[in-house]
Amino acid sequence: MKTFVAFLLLPVALAVIVALYFGNCVFVHIENDFAALRRAAETTRPLWHTYERLESMAPRAWHQPTNSREIIDTIRLVARQDDDKETSKIRVVGAGHSWSPLGLTAGHLINLDKYSRVLEIDVKNARVTTQSGIRLRDLNRALFERGLALENIGSIDAQSLAGAISTSTHGSGVKYGSISTKVLWLEMILANGSTINITRDDTGLYGAATTGLGLLGVISVVQLECARAFHVYREESLEHVDVAMEKWSERVNAIDHYSTWWIPYTSSVRLVKVTRVGRERRANKSDAFTTRSSFGVAVQLGWWLGSLAPRLVPHVMAYYVRPLFGIDVAFVATALDGLQLDPPHVHNEMEYFIDLENYTRCFRDLVAFVRASDEFKTNFIVQTRFSASDRVWLSPMYERPKAAIAIMMYRQDARAFFDGAERIFQSYDGRPHWAKKHSASRDYLQRVYPMFREFLRVREALDPRGIFLNEYLEGVLYG
Ligand SMILES: Cc1cc2nc3c(=O)[nH]c(=O)nc-3n(C[C@H](O)[C@H](O)[C@H](O)COP(=O)(O)OP(=O)(O)OC[C@H]3O[C@@H](n4cnc5c(N)ncnc54)[C@H](O)[C@@H]3O)c2cc1C
Repeated sequence: MKTFVAFLLLPVALAVIVALYFGNCVFVHIENDFAALRRAAETTRPLWHTYERLESMAPRAWHQPTNSREIIDTIRLVARQDDDKETSKIRVVGAGHSWSPLGLTAGHLINLDKYSRVLEIDVKNARVTTQSGIRLRDLNRALFERGLALENIGSIDAQSLAGAISTSTHGSGVKYGSISTKVLWLEMILANGSTINITRDDTGLYGAATTGLGLLGVISVVQLECARAFHVYREESLEHVDVAMEKWSERVNAIDHYSTWWIPYTSSVRLVKVTRVGRERRANKSDAFTTRSSFGVAVQLGWWLGSLAPRLVPHVMAYYVRPLFGIDVAFVATALDGLQLDPPHVHNEMEYFIDLENYTRCFRDLVAFVRASDEFKTNFIVQTRFSASDRVWLSPMYERPKAAIAIMMYRQDARAFFDGAERIFQSYDGRPHWAKKHSASRDYLQRVYPMFREFLRVREALDPRGIFLNEYLEGVLYG
């Protein structure tokens, strides 16, 4: 039956892809091509943009070092320019998959795509040492070949390892921490060109460096703790929102990676239950494929239609929710395939982390706000995930497990939605995801991130001239 549905949807999907492509919209990820950017820079000042193309800027110079000497030389080159201008600063970026303009600079931009080699996989002790520019998907594949895996992963695996660490990138699972929590040690090149090693025992620096937003230096090499390679059993189905809200607290403890999607303007939630299973269970690839091809494409079609006529979204959702989101899914897959399969990727996003005891009330306030607002009609899901407490200073999970509520908008102005939702999140002292859209003030951040001031103290000691700052971060941290 599922295959039949997939088959029926295929021509529609192809038509949509062609329409979207020729409609000149961003349907697939077009990565920043650094070689082309560098070539173009000889005659013009080409733009570097974030993945969604919502933020862009022309840096003064591009750098793609292939070894640590070149990273050091680039930093020293910038450090020698003894002035305070934005063009005399430096930012480091990975895949540019942050919605907030963390990577924008009018100065120098470094990218470590060419500094991305796995250096050593220690199978016995389940750890890997790697150059930090590696993408998570390449790292995870290399680990899988040796019987290891990343402990958890978010919706996608296109990020660079250093970018994911620097922003506390997380998946779902109240027993599983962000990728930052897996760092055993890292090597960082500082503003003065010196190199330091920061280990888990280094209480002064480890907490700051494992979510540093690219402000403390350039992370060059990382050693990570890994898991033994695993398979997962993934189930997805629809449920009434009231039942889901009643049962979430017992489910987060029983299910390894539990998350939900509320379908706006409906009473339905799509449950995503992912449980780790032994390697002896065979992955059923065709079911994973069916999910990707039918569900993924059908949902993409829904979002797209919603962006064309936002006012119709509530009516269309009521009709669409069963045929679209009602497709039940259950399959076994490797951790490489089974932990992802999340929403279509191109969209705008804000995410706040709420204390577990406040989650139900905060979620219900958000639902009421979305239903009542006439200023916008959201055409995307509201996702909730759960994440373990940690000791990383700027981690949203610092010293508390959290429910992470992500709101998204597809090809529409998100301001009215995000502003209203942010007021609700902040009324529960939510902590914003640094890589996603937010407009939290410095005072607010200082209140909800207990180590905020400590982090600034370390930043100022390591980079007194502020060469790693950009205008955006200066506003967020000191505005
Ligand atoms: C479709 C999509 C899905 C996503 N899903 C999730 C998810 O499930 N969970 C989640 O938590 N987040 C998610 N994100 C956000 C994403 O994980 C973060 O934005 C992450 O930082 C992106 O990694 P990147 O390599 O693109 O980093 P960039 O966006 O390029 O940079 C992010 C930060 O890392 C710093 N940085 C990069 N490289 C270095 C380095 N070598 N040394 C020091 N600092 C460095 C940068 O200066 C910047 O401050 C998603 C984003 C997208 C677009």
